[in-house]
Parts: sequence; structure tokens; C-alpha cells
Amino acid sequence: MKKTISLIAAAAAMLPVLGPGTAGAEEVNLYSYRQPFLIQPFLDEFTRQTGIKVNVVYAQKGMLQRLKAEGRNTPADAVLTVDISRLDALTNAELLQPVSSPVLDRNIPAQYRHPQGHWYGLTTRARIIYVSKDRVKPGEVASYEDLAKPHMKGRVCTRSGKHVYTVSLIASIIEANGEKATEQWLRGVKANLARKPQGNDRAQVKAIKDGVCDVSLGNTYYMGKMATNDKKPEQRQWAASVNILFPNQAGRGTHVNISGAAVTEHAKNKANAVKLLEFLSENFAQKMYADQNFEYPVKAGVELHPMVAGWGKFKSDAVNLDNVAKHRAAATKLVDRVNFDG
Ligand code: FE
Repeated sequence: MKKTISLIAAAAAMLPVLGPGTAGAEEVNLYSYRQPFLIQPFLDEFTRQTGIKVNVVYAQKGMLQRLKAEGRNTPADAVLTVDISRLDALTNAELLQPVSSPVLDRNIPAQYRHPQGHWYGLTTRARIIYVSKDRVKPGEVASYEDLAKPHMKGRVCTRSGKHVYTVSLIASIIEANGEKATEQWLRGVKANLARKPQGNDRAQVKAIKDGVCDVSLGNTYYMGKMATNDKKPEQRQWAASVNILFPNQAGRGTHVNISGAAVTEHAKNKANAVKLLEFLSENFAQKMYADQNFEYPVKAGVELHPMVAGWGKFKSDAVNLDNVAKHRAAATKLVDRVNFDG
């Protein structure tokens, strides 16, 4: 089990690293929800190419609270995080500043960056349906909407409705179908659950392997992480028990979310932070970043990891994620109203 580190504790432990740099030294300070194995290799390359030192505080929660508490004294120049819901929360709290960069605009499709440059997507992941190889017949499930239909009674597993991955998916359905239809859908999914929402995306696939349910919602990269897991080989069995299905191919396309980056409102090294974001959007970092976690590069034309390529081409929902984010509060309210986790 990974230990959850509070950002406050982690930052406090690392304060010397994030203190004022050596006079004249170029640096950039980063708060990251992304793990060291993912980003350290290309941060090292960034330093090698530019001479700019990157100081990183790694954490798994508390970023928004910490940035808020630090205010203009924050050492953070940029943040790396996942999910449009988190990026939108930082934007709404006025903790990010707009960036304008022809490089970022060229490399990142408009749907995956904030219209005024408050955040930029760097990799994408699709929220897909994992289906039991043995118990789901072809055509039984083809869309998110199908998960609410009567023939799926007792067959659906998912993580909490309050998790950002779920909130963003629900928000994307509100954007597509409206709030009323989405409430009905969410009630339908709840009625079809095999068990109360619990665990992470991988735990749902384990539940399919164990026969608890037949389908689950999860992000694409977990398939890669399970299928290649040497430390926990049992996860290879979980992966082997399912196929992945890209929902809504006949309609609007599959919900795709991002991992992203942004420059903080009170960045002291803004120019270096922008340079770092630009570097992360270029071919070298794009390939490395996506490959490390079985994600999709956000930049067109960057080669996919062979396993990711093997999942096949699919149609993604073309909506701008900022429009999805606008329904975040409504999505959270629906989760409460239908008592989704209860
Ligand atoms: Fe994840």
C-alpha cells in the first residue's frame, strides 16, 4: 500500500529545498501530485537542457489548502496534478495565473487547455468500462448510459461518486445530456450496483475477477499498470479477466480527462515555470511522460506506448474540459441527492 503523504508535512520536511535558491541560480519550484518515477526522468533532462534547477515537493493531497494558506508567500511556481476537477478547483480559488504561450497553444489541443491559459493538459486518459471476458456478451454494454439499464442490475462496480474521476465523468454527462437526465442515469447506475461504491479503479477490476460484478468504470492506464505489475503479480490476473471498452463510440465519444500543469498565481519564477510547461508539451517529455504511466500524449503525432496502441483507436468526447468543469458543483450535488455512495 502506498503511504498517503500530506503535502503540508512533506513540504515542511523539505523546506530547506524550497527555500530561496542560491543567488543568481535559475530555478523553478514545483508542487506535484504526480509521482517521482513519472516525472523525475524528464525533469532531469529539463535541467540538463536549460540549466534551470527543479525543486519538487511530492504529495498526494492538500495542494489547494497549502497554496491557499501560503498565499503570496508560496514557494511554488507551478503545479502538476491530475483531473480537470482538481485543476478547476485551483482555478476557482484564484491560485493559478493565466499563461500565454504559442508553444503550448501549438502543442496542446484547445479542448485540453483552459481558454485563458490557467491550466494545460499534458497527458490524457480515457474513463472506460472494464468488462468481464466471461460474463458480458458483445453489445450488452456500449455506453455509460447502458450502465443504468435494467439488464445491468447487480452487475456494476465503481469507486466513490465523490472521487474526482467520478465527479468529472458525471459532469461530462451533464454537459451532454443535461442535469435531469443525468440524475436519472445516476439513480439507475446506483440501482444496478453490485456493492456500495468503494476502493480505487483497480479494486473494481479485482471485483470483476472475483465474480462480484461484471463491469466497472476505470481509467485506461490502470489496465497497463495491472497487466505489467511485477510487484503484485495477482494484478495481472485481474487484468486478464477483463476487456476494455471505450464507451459511446456511436455517439459523443468516450470521456477523456487530463493530467495537467499550471503556473501559480504568486509564482516568483514565472518565466522558468512557463519554460518547464513548454518543455513538458514537446515531443521528448510527451513520449516519456505518457509511456511511464500508460497514458496518451496530448500532443498530436507522438508515438504511443505499444500496449496503449494495442487498445486501439477510439473516438473521444470533443467537448472542452472547461465546459465539463463548469458542471462540477452540479455533479457533486447529484451524487449527494441520489445518495450514490450510501
Ligand atoms: Fe489514477
